Amino acid sequence: MVKKRIGIIGATGSVGSAGVEVVHANQDIFETIFVTAHSNEKGLENAKDKLQAKYALLTSKIEDNKDIIDIINNENVDIVLFAAAGVSCVKLVYDIVHNGTNIALANKESIVTAGRLIIDEAKSKGVKILPVDSEHSAIFQCLMGQRRQYVSKITLTASGGPFRYRPGDAFEYVNINEALKHPNWLMGSKITIDSATMINKGLELIEARFLFDIEPCKLDVIIHPESIVHSYITFIDGSTIAQLGLPNMKTPIAFALGYPERIISQVEPINLFEQKSLTFLKPDLEKFRCLKIAKEVLEKDSNDLMAAMNVANEEAVKAFLKGKIAFKDISYVIEDVISKADVKDAQNILEAEENIKKYQIFASEFLAKY
Ligand code: NDP
Ligand code: MG
Repeated sequence: MVKKRIGIIGATGSVGSAGVEVVHANQDIFETIFVTAHSNEKGLENAKDKLQAKYALLTSKIEDNKDIIDIINNENVDIVLFAAAGVSCVKLVYDIVHNGTNIALANKESIVTAGRLIIDEAKSKGVKILPVDSEHSAIFQCLMGQRRQYVSKITLTASGGPFRYRPGDAFEYVNINEALKHPNWLMGSKITIDSATMINKGLELIEARFLFDIEPCKLDVIIHPESIVHSYITFIDGSTIAQLGLPNMKTPIAFALGYPERIISQVEPINLFEQKSLTFLKPDLEKFRCLKIAKEVLEKDSNDLMAAMNVANEEAVKAFLKGKIAFKDISYVIEDVISKADVKDAQNILEAEENIKKYQIFASEFLAKY
């Protein structure tokens, strides 16, 4: 069998290292061409050795995305697992799509910030963007074989993070360690804080809006503390289709990398006898103000406002993790930057990058007041 030629960007992170394990468990299917990390040299060497990758690159040391694109083209890479975090990856995601290369995408920040441009480019190049985010993998799977016009609603499930049962007025006293303790998923620090504020689900609503070209009014969120149902779709005839599984990123990673085949993920199937109960709650938008803001931004459907929200959140989370601002201040930073944003979408990726810089400056000006 001809092997799929793969590259992994962000191979040392939480998603990236799960990706390394999935690829390692399927050596008969994949040939690893390259792995990248940003600055973790040791972790990069380990990933390279484990997968016997041909190239290992530190993205902090390369000057131009062209170095990665050249490897993709010279080595005929079939698919890139994009597992690097943050908005600074927007251009690289765009460049890979522009190059015509299929991408298994974990980096939601790029879609939230420049989804319209990236999706348009993917359409014009015939590129597949396969979602790695577990909710979007679930939606993708539930939509297989379905006609889009029969979808009446897509509901994203959320664990609700560490504060799902904590009263909103106690948010004043949240400290960094509490916010970093996610009850169900082991993830990088930025997305873990995003789960605690629940803006993660807001980012995911926007990610779904672009990935599945679905109207904002058909998207909803429900809290599901067990993280077993990864999202579900309701159709016009009253049918609901859901995707279930243990909360382990290896399942959506394996689905995206193997697509259209199913491959081994090393994740045990869910045992519903052991699971016993599944619970669902309505999110409290007064408590989770960041989710409320994200829903309002989604309804306005302006990619520029989405970009402003995403950039402001990223800067606010960095400031929170450094102990500069309180947990509840994250939503104030976002509100301030959004209030200064245009609603005119970037016309090309360079404009999108300029907007990102502009919103980073707005955020740092607001943060300087603390
Ligand atoms: P981590 O922080 O664990 O890992 C980030 C990875 O990206 C590391 O390999 C890191 O390298 C690399 N990296 C950091 N900065 C840059 C940069 N500027 N350019 C290129 N590479 C960089 O993140 P996660 O694995 O938690 O998340 C990765 C992405 O996946 C995020 O966008 C997140 O939202 C998304 N995601 C994550 C989930 C999860 O379960 N963790 C679930 C769903 C989506 P180094 O180690 O050298 O710093
Ligand atoms: Mg998710």
